[in-house]
Formats: sequence, C-alpha cells, structure tokens
Amino acid sequence: MSTAFDCIVLGGGPAGSTTAALVAEQGHKTLLLERAKFPRYHVGESLMPDTFFTLERLGVVEKLKDRGFIRKYSVQFVGQSGRESAPFYFLQHRDEEASVTWQVERGEFDQLLFENAAEKGADCRDQMRVTDVLLDGDRVCGVKAKHADGEEFTFESKVVVDGTGQSSLLASKFDLKENYQDLRNAAIWTYYKGAHRDEGKDEGATIILYTSDRKSWFWYIPLKDDLVSVGVVSENDYLLRRGVRPQEAFEEELKRCPAMKWRIENGMREGDFKVCRDFSYSAKEPAGNGWVLVGDALGFLDPIYSSGVFLALKSGEMAADAIHAGLEKNDLSKEQLGGWAPEFMHGMGLIRQLVYAFYNEKFNFGHFIREFPQHKGNLVDLLVGRVFRPGLEQVFVDMETWLEKQSTDENMDSSKMTSKA
Ligand SMILES: Cc1cc2nc3c(=O)[nH]c(=O)nc-3n(C[C@H](O)[C@H](O)[C@H](O)COP(=O)(O)OP(=O)(O)OC[C@H]3O[C@@H](n4cnc5c(N)ncnc54)[C@H](O)[C@@H]3O)c2cc1C
Repeated sequence: MSTAFDCIVLGGGPAGSTTAALVAEQGHKTLLLERAKFPRYHVGESLMPDTFFTLERLGVVEKLKDRGFIRKYSVQFVGQSGRESAPFYFLQHRDEEASVTWQVERGEFDQLLFENAAEKGADCRDQMRVTDVLLDGDRVCGVKAKHADGEEFTFESKVVVDGTGQSSLLASKFDLKENYQDLRNAAIWTYYKGAHRDEGKDEGATIILYTSDRKSWFWYIPLKDDLVSVGVVSENDYLLRRGVRPQEAFEEELKRCPAMKWRIENGMREGDFKVCRDFSYSAKEPAGNGWVLVGDALGFLDPIYSSGVFLALKSGEMAADAIHAGLEKNDLSKEQLGGWAPEFMHGMGLIRQLVYAFYNEKFNFGHFIREFPQHKGNLVDLLVGRVFRPGLEQVFVDMETWLEKQSTDENMDSSKMTSKA
C-alpha cells in the first residue's frame, strides 16, 4: 500500500507533534507516525517557562490549564552542604503569563500534543513504527513503516522530518550522531507517592540538590496525584559502575544527600528504577535534501536545566516554518530545510555552556552574580529559555575569566599553604 504526502513526521513526541501540527495547519498533506500506543510513558516532566510561546501558537494553553497539571512557579537549588537557596520565582524576573509553567506527566502531555496535530489536519497514527527511509539519490523521498498488527506500509513524501527522539533514526542511518565526549552522564530515577511537598506556590518548584561530595545531583519534580519524580545524575562510569545495581547506586547517592532523603523518606516508591546513559549528543547536520531533524533527534544536552521539551518544541516550530516556506516555493533543499538551524544551534549552544558551568566545581550561581550583578537578568533568561536574543554571549566571556581567576586564586592559596608547611 503506497500513499503520497507533502510532509511525513517520524515520532509523536513534543518535537514531532509540533512540526506536524504547524505544517498541517498551513494546508499541507501531513502524516505523523508514532511507534508506541498513546498514552506512552516518557521521562522529562519539568517545563521551562518559555515553552509557553510555542504552546500558545499550537493553541493548547487552555487545554493544559484544564488538565490540572501542577503549576511550576520557581526553581530552587540546594548546595552540597545542604543549604537551601531561596526559590527563584520566574514572575519576579518577568511578570507575564509565561512565567508560571507546568510539571507534566509526559504520557498525557504528549498525547495532548499528538491529538492537537490531528485537530490541525495531520493524519496521526500511533502503533506505527518507521523501519526505514526511501532514498532517491541523496534525497529522502519517503518511509517504510510497520503497524503493531504486522501490516507494512510505504509512504512517499516531499519532506521527511525525524522527531524520533534519542533513537534518532535518520542521524543514526546517516552516521551523523556525535556524543559530547566531555559530557558523558547517566541518570537513575523513579517515582514516590506521598513524599514531602512544600505548600502554596512552592508546591510545584523543581528542586536541584547536590550530594555532599558534589559527585552527583538529584532532581525533585512534583507531579499531580501526589507523585514526585526523583532522579540522580552523574558520570556514566561512576553512577553505573560494574557490579552495582541501579537501586543500590541510587540509594548510595541518597545517603550523601540528606536534603533529598528527608523529602522522600515518608513516601512510597511507585514503579522500578529507570536508567538512561550517554544521552548528550548532537547531529553533525541538521538537514539534507528532503529531510530535517527536530528535538532530541537533532541533539540533547543534559537534564539539569529542563531544556529538552523547550528545545523540542522550538526546533519543531522553526522547522515547520522552513518546511511551509519550502513547500510553497518548491524548494526542499538542504539549505532551505536547515536554514533555521544556525540560529537554533546558537541558542542551544548558550544553554550548553551553562550546562558546562554547572558541572565545573568552581562554579556557583550566587558567587558569580555577586561579582557580575549585570548578568543576573541574562542568567535568568538562559534558565527560562529566552536564548534566541542577542547579547547573552558576554556572560560566558566574563564567566571564563572569572573561573580562571578562581583556579589561579586557589593555586596561590595552596602554594602558600605548602611553603608554610
Ligand atoms: C534523564 C532525563 C531527564 C529529563 N528531564 C527533563 C525535564 O525535566 N524537562 C525537559 O524539558 N526535558 C527533560 N528531558 C529531555 C526530554 O525528555 C526530551 O528532550 C524530550 O522528550 C524530546 O522530545 P522529542 O519529541 O524530541 O523526543 P521524544 O519525546 O523522545 O519523542 C520521540 C518519539 O518518537 C517515537 N519513535 C522513536 N522511534 C520511532 C520509530 N522508528 N518510528 C516511529 N516512532 C518512533 C518514540 O516512541 C517517541 O514517542 C530529560 C531527559 C533525560 C534523559
């Protein structure tokens, strides 16, 4: 069975559903294929405030409000000594609707976006695994797919969008995936019911907690129905060392994080420990003739700032605009389909630099802001996702000089100690 489309999107996660909705809305014949059956589980519950703008364009803000997801007003950090910083309320930075975001159960959130794509006119099918792409020379011109019941399909298309997340079907086929060698982290996580929850506005805060030796950090993300998502992140080789089961590794780190331990000790664990490793990578090329990558299929940084869904939505939106313009003028070249990527990769690169800062043991947000108060607003913009504006680069110029100075001061202090001894 063969059918022709203007645009086929692979993967019904936030990136794929966004692209499909916005392309279909322009009247292009669009097919969205998802291998799982909705609702399906996915990690990544905490949203960044600036997801609001793509969600608004998709027309789903009111639906999200109706679902009763926990509202996230702030983020809070707990240092390695256990000292809690005051929660940072996004509304204090910008008093606007976007500044209160959500902690979402991804099964429900992703299904809502998938159904929204159908409402905008896309042909959305779940339980349809894409098995390969069709090539005409170097141009991608369709896909092969298999339904869960075994039936096989061939679909032709002018454009194929890869939104298959970490599977990154196209980038893997074309050997374009590159792991960040200096960011090789793993995560172990699970869920608790009835754990401690703060009250009022603080109920929905994401909390990031260092362990006492700063070798790892925990996330605490409160969800609806009294559930909390709790995960620990550290280097692959340390966290997933041979002979130590994920539960043991998680519990060992928990001993080194009393501020996390007391929050969950009265809760009941729900479900198993889940593991993910080597999740930080980028594709060498964002697009080619007849194809384009969006969301995690294009690249993923790290869970620390909850930037994944934001970047998935944003790349889906930017790619959809390029696809619409390309279909209108019959130009589906690499240059047309990837024309948005330099701006996107620049913004993503800024968040990546902030990720590296977090893992630098000399870095401390509070100390840096005390030294460079002019960067407070810039740092908050980076944390909420407002990264597609000029002027943020200076943060990292000053940060590098400051971090070098920290190292020099420390070396001088230790050489003074040695000469005294
Ligand atoms: C440990 C961890 C914690 C995280 N925490 C957060 C967080 O708190 N906040 C946040 O914003 N982000 C977080 N993320 C990142 C976030 O989960 C992703 O960035 C986000 O889901 C990317 O969306 P996507 O649409 O690109 O991919 P996905 O959401 O992964 O969707 C891809 C879809 O493609 C489907 N698919 C795959 N292969 C095929 C195929 N062959 N055929 C058809 N369909 C296919 C999959 O079933 C899936 O539904 C976290 C990531 C990790 C690893």
